[in-house]
Amino acid sequence: MSVTAVIAAAGSGQRLGAGGPKAFVPVAGRPLVEWSIAAFQVAPSVGAIVIACPPGHAHDLAGSDLGLVDGGATRAESVSNALAAVGTELVAIHDAARPMVTPELIEGVISTLAADPEAAGAIAATSVTDTIKQVGATGADPQVHCNAFRSSRERKTLQCVERTLDRRRLWAAQTPQVFRVSALRDALTADPEALAAATDEAMMVEAAGKKVLVHPSPPENLKVTTPFDLRVAELLLGQ
Ligand code: C5P
Repeated sequence: MSVTAVIAAAGSGQRLGAGGPKAFVPVAGRPLVEWSIAAFQVAPSVGAIVIACPPGHAHDLAGSDLGLVDGGATRAESVSNALAAVGTELVAIHDAARPMVTPELIEGVISTLAADPEAAGAIAATSVTDTIKQVGATGADPQVHCNAFRSSRERKTLQCVERTLDRRRLWAAQTPQVFRVSALRDALTADPEALAAATDEAMMVEAAGKKVLVHPSPPENLKVTTPFDLRVAELLLGQ
């Protein structure tokens, strides 16, 4: 089977505060994105790799056997730009920000989708261990239950619990996310506002009413977002 990998690497990395695009921040001796590229290069089902680069940075990866496209202002735009260069039936979308991805995980997610002809996608995900609260700025009855004993200044910033979600059914979505290309292309024709707000591709495919499967992934497949994540990644990849 031949699958194209699309690596979304066009994020600004503002929350990391590295002063440049996150994908090129050095981690354990290599730019962050190169860890993911190396994993996809040895995954047997992956035949081609397309990178959505921060605009103006494609030359930083030139010389290797990669498809390079400019990313867009949103993640969905970056993925759409890369999808234009995909000629296979299946595509594996991956965040450059997840450098700990392994060939085993990539193959596992691909196999999960390939085994179910009715599914449009399969995503790497990990079951949550924390109890998850849905919060709102105001809560159910803020004056009585949440802010009654707070100063007016604090009251403005406090978040209040609205409800507790059932942990047994909660999974944290990661990447790779593998899709039938036709289903993903359809999903990415959705309303531009919904696309701009999408934090993963599966959201759009689900919203189109399609079946998306969950493939359990190890917790090490973390996403580098903050300086703390970067330190953890340095330690683990350094080993
Ligand atoms: O912002 P977040 O950490 O959720 O980004 C996840 C991935 O999406 C990152 O690897 C980032 O490079 C990518 N991205 C992108 N184009 C954007 C925004 C984010 O390729 N415009």
